[in-house]
Amino acid sequence: KKWVYLFEEGKAEMKSLLGGKGANLAEMTNIGLPVPPGLTITTEACNAYYDAGKNFPEGLMDQVKSALAEVEAKLGKKFGDAENPLLVSVRSGAVFSMPGMMDTILNLGLNDVTVKGLAQATQNDRFALDCYRRFIQMYSDVVLGASHADFEHILEEYRERQGVRFDNELSVESLNALIADYKAMVRRTTGQTFPQDPMAQLEGAVRAVFSSWNNDRARVYRQINRIPDNLGTAVNVQAMVFGNMGNDCGTGVAFTRNPSTGEKALYGEYLINAQGEDVVAGIRTPLHISRMQEELPECFEQFVEICGILERHYRNMQDIEFTIERGKLWMLQTRNGKRTAAAAVKIAVDMVQEGLISKEEAILRVEPEHLDQLLHRRIDPTAKLTVIATGLPASPGAASGKVVFDADEAEALGKAGEKVILVRMETTPDDIHGIVQAQGILTSRGGMTSHAAVVARQMGKPCVCGCEALRIDYNRGDFAVATASGGIKTYRKGDIISIDGATGRVIEGVVPMLEPELTKEFRVLLDWADEIRTLGVRANADKPEEAEMARNFGAAGIGLTRTEHMFMAQDRLPIVQEMILAQSLEEREAALAKLLPMQQGDFYGILKAMAGFPVCIRLLDPPLHEFLPSLEDLLVDTTRLRCAIETTDGDRKEALLDELNEKEQLMKKVRALHEFNPMLGHRGCRLGITYPEIYAMQARAIFQAVVQLVDEGFDVEPEVEIPLVAEVKELAYLRKVVEETAAAVMTETGTKFHYTVGTMIEVPRAALTADQIAKEAQFFSFGTNDLTQTTFGFSRDDAESKFFGVYSERKLLSDNPFIVLDRDGVGSLMKIAVERGRATRPDLLVGICGEHGGEPSSIEFCHLIGLNFVSCSPYRVPIARLAAAQAAI
Ligand code: PEP
Ligand code: MG
Repeated sequence: KKWVYLFEEGKAEMKSLLGGKGANLAEMTNIGLPVPPGLTITTEACNAYYDAGKNFPEGLMDQVKSALAEVEAKLGKKFGDAENPLLVSVRSGAVFSMPGMMDTILNLGLNDVTVKGLAQATQNDRFALDCYRRFIQMYSDVVLGASHADFEHILEEYRERQGVRFDNELSVESLNALIADYKAMVRRTTGQTFPQDPMAQLEGAVRAVFSSWNNDRARVYRQINRIPDNLGTAVNVQAMVFGNMGNDCGTGVAFTRNPSTGEKALYGEYLINAQGEDVVAGIRTPLHISRMQEELPECFEQFVEICGILERHYRNMQDIEFTIERGKLWMLQTRNGKRTAAAAVKIAVDMVQEGLISKEEAILRVEPEHLDQLLHRRIDPTAKLTVIATGLPASPGAASGKVVFDADEAEALGKAGEKVILVRMETTPDDIHGIVQAQGILTSRGGMTSHAAVVARQMGKPCVCGCEALRIDYNRGDFAVATASGGIKTYRKGDIISIDGATGRVIEGVVPMLEPELTKEFRVLLDWADEIRTLGVRANADKPEEAEMARNFGAAGIGLTRTEHMFMAQDRLPIVQEMILAQSLEEREAALAKLLPMQQGDFYGILKAMAGFPVCIRLLDPPLHEFLPSLEDLLVDTTRLRCAIETTDGDRKEALLDELNEKEQLMKKVRALHEFNPMLGHRGCRLGITYPEIYAMQARAIFQAVVQLVDEGFDVEPEVEIPLVAEVKELAYLRKVVEETAAAVMTETGTKFHYTVGTMIEVPRAALTADQIAKEAQFFSFGTNDLTQTTFGFSRDDAESKFFGVYSERKLLSDNPFIVLDRDGVGSLMKIAVERGRATRPDLLVGICGEHGGEPSSIEFCHLIGLNFVSCSPYRVPIARLAAAQAAI
């Protein structure tokens, strides 16, 4: 079996076999770009290694040796040669890029003998020894399990002893002694001797890369990004080129377009006289790529040309790593660059306009969920701010929170619902759990391609990095900054700061924020999405402002107005309670009469805001006890009253007794309304059937608002919706109530209007008897929150906090069904309902208004089963438009 491919034997399409990095190195080699020669060990070899209980498959190292011989022949160097040794890098390369998650080893092939050969070949002893000490450090850390801190410790000792600040100032003597110390420390702490045989080094490195596929941070990354565990990683073994041989050398990382904004301009950083990990690790702060034009003009020109070639070849923005060795440019990696949502949208739209890609491709290039980032907040530009310091604007958005220096603490506080800003000198993949929980990230070191920056952009979290003005002290738990007046100010753990990822500002305290606006490109992309999609997009909204916002985001109508939200308002609750507590129909009707004008006003506002589009208004749904105080609160109140009464006399006592009496009446009612299972109880249409006067009042409020608007010349399309129907007779009964009310309003006002009556499908029986229900319903709307609850028998209020955690750990649930629609169960019922419903009424309008209506995979399913529309919260409308278009492509 072929386990090993030379770069020239592969191509971009072989990504699943060669990993992303290997496939792209192969592709670059074959389009004639300057790539140091090398070979890729396949992902199949990694899987075979695990299948064989962590043993190399047969023939693997033999194939590596013969491929390496070809690399040697190309370069005229030999692996392990005492005179002119070939050195290699060993890197992991998974199918999906996993930044910073897997381990890399550079300078492999160095030992006590070849280091002399390297010194001779490069005429530079210091350089060769520095390579060797870096190699021992990296190899022992990754392969032998030595501690990174132990090396840093020794290094620091030598810097101090020699009285220098930087590693590259260490003398040849220091380096020789340091290498001896390194080796002794490795032997002492790991019990292993640092291997001198280059082939043994290589074998160990390959094994370590295979193993790193299953290290903790790789697993966490895969879990967060939903990358399957069984893909395996490839291993790339590539001839080393050196960016740290002098001032005509360097190394850098660049994006062909700005990954934050999408602007079409080279964007990146480089360091003169440095090796690759110096840039990515964020230890030295690098220079902007444009500076290279002055420092290394020829290389810069060639680099710009290659960037153009790569972008046209891949028809996508590229993220490129390069090294310059003695004035010669080498390409080390290219891949489609990660980008913010704003950049993704701009690049996609620009590339269509540049003729590089089609509109459909542009739509598929933007992840709908990422649009959420564009809807992020920013700091109000008119606000007065106390800017503490300014770093690099690494990831857009703004956030405020408590200063926290430790990822574990950030995680703990974040999970407890606190807002925190994780402040670190730099972040590493080990901090990922803290980053996930933080509102934003602030680092004092590292550039726009440092770990913190890359990860934050991907997660859509605000991030400011390389803020060198901060003097962070982890031990004391504070950071200090110089103030404008020349003093020093210290911020402690727990103090509140804000960061602005768009400008790099770090600000004291909480700051006023503005809600986002949509860019021109964003609108263009969504217009294209609208041309392509066949699924309608509406919004769930209960207030005229929400309806307006939804309309601005492109919603064509309201898919759900929850009228109970109008009952919850502080000034209405007493009247609603009056209605609930009423002892007779007359009393109840008196309370309803007070609610009528209020509801009419609500409906007037919302219908007007959505004039020209349908507005679906759902009649009262929740169990009535939700509008009353809880029994616990009432118990506390009455006990307190009784105590007060004992120590009071006269009029005051009388008043307290009256109050107690009232509370006791209320308690009686609360007890009477108590249900063991309110979500399966007296709610929805069941409420409408027991108290038809409530639904009649709501219907009247709707129709009177309609008449008002019709008279004012507005075009309105009300849809009256009955919730939680399980049996067609329930719907028939209530439809009659609505129709009689409509007829009465028309007669009283002399104004004719159009309306429809329909139902929510929220229980399995409704879905299964949809053919009967469709006789009475002009439309269906899937209430998939309840339908998921009633199909699984999972309480929508409890399941997530009680047992979903364990379910997901044990892989019993791949997705939370309250977020991602369960196609097999809930989806089957929906499909049945659509088919049966339309068999009865071919023009039946069908939509969805549960939370799933704004979730891309659920939207795709809705498209597939032929729904007319999805309805979601206003902020998710753009996401739904894009997802609906993607579903149609
Ligand atoms: C639903 O059940 O999906 C729905 C939209 O109604 P509610 O969430 O108000 O119960
Ligand atoms: Mg519901």
